[in-house]
Amino acid sequence: ADEFAVVPIVARDSSVGVIIADNRFSGRPIDDETVELLTMFANQAGMAIENAKVYENLREQMAKLRQAYEDLSQAQDRLIRAERLAAIGEMAARVAHEIRNPLVTVGGFARSLRKYHDGHRACNEQERNRVRHELDIIIEEVRSLEGILAKVIDFSRPDTPMRQQGLVNNVLDDTVDLLVAGASHKAIEIEKRYAADLPVTSFDVRQIRQVFFNLIQNAMDAMPGGGRVRISTALLGEWIEIVIQDEGEGIPPDHMRDLFSPFFTTKVSGTGLGLPVVRKIVSDHGGSIQVESEPDRGTAFIVKLPVVTSLADVEGATATTE
Ligand code: ADP
Ligand code: MG
Repeated sequence: ADEFAVVPIVARDSSVGVIIADNRFSGRPIDDETVELLTMFANQAGMAIENAKVYENLREQMAKLRQAYEDLSQAQDRLIRAERLAAIGEMAARVAHEIRNPLVTVGGFARSLRKYHDGHRACNEQERNRVRHELDIIIEEVRSLEGILAKVIDFSRPDTPMRQQGLVNNVLDDTVDLLVAGASHKAIEIEKRYAADLPVTSFDVRQIRQVFFNLIQNAMDAMPGGGRVRISTALLGEWIEIVIQDEGEGIPPDHMRDLFSPFFTTKVSGTGLGLPVVRKIVSDHGGSIQVESEPDRGTAFIVKLPVVTSLADVEGATATTE
């Protein structure tokens, strides 16, 4: 070639290369206009290279961010799992403890009955009564063990509620119906103050019924001499609020911290599993629970459930608890 032109390719204020053009094929002289065109082309190329670099950089940053996010959510998962394992471990120890006493009783009475049976003695009225009495105790203790196990199983059930559309007020009515026989017996009055405008929302009916059952049962337990349980519902924006209020003994401030711990109970025949199960179900539904209590005046449990109208909302609703 007898003529050539050289233009730099500039990207980010420094030259990243050059374009060399000659006239070997055309044989025509390289004029100013051609050099200008070449310069424009080099500028475009420079910008394209710069963009590509910025893009590449961005992609690296994005990849790093994504990695960081994944690490974080894995760490969070591990934390949740560890917390749950700790709770399950604690629970296993307490279950073993809870189950020991009834088992000792059952074993003792069963041995005594076997001894009686082995003796082949004629059965008189008094002995028959004793056998019946001991069998009744065995049956009662086994029933109590079954109750403890049922609650443990409930606690370790998978989280995802089986949602269906329903009305909170109806579930409350059903629950009250279940409890009403015991209520009239103990001179307990149940007052309903329902909001009429509650929307249909989706929740696991069986689980939410259990929440209400446990809370109303606790309210009734707190008033051994009778009294009034007030059940109210309200729509607060995107939330349905359910308040179960009693006029019972109240909760001493130093019990507040342990209230939701598995096996915390102040009752002779309590399991202490009601409130932990309640809290787990409520949080699985993306809701929250609060307690307000005044010793000797009464206690209110305040449950808030998100209004979930379509299944697309479910993920959003669950995400808020995490
Ligand atoms: P349980 O009813 O088997 O004792 P819960 O987990 O349901 O177990 O309740 C734990 C404890 O919290 C109860 O033993 C009681 O001391 C206290 N508690 C719960 N609800 C009330 C209430 N409405 N009023 C007073 N104390 C309550
Ligand atoms: Mg209870």
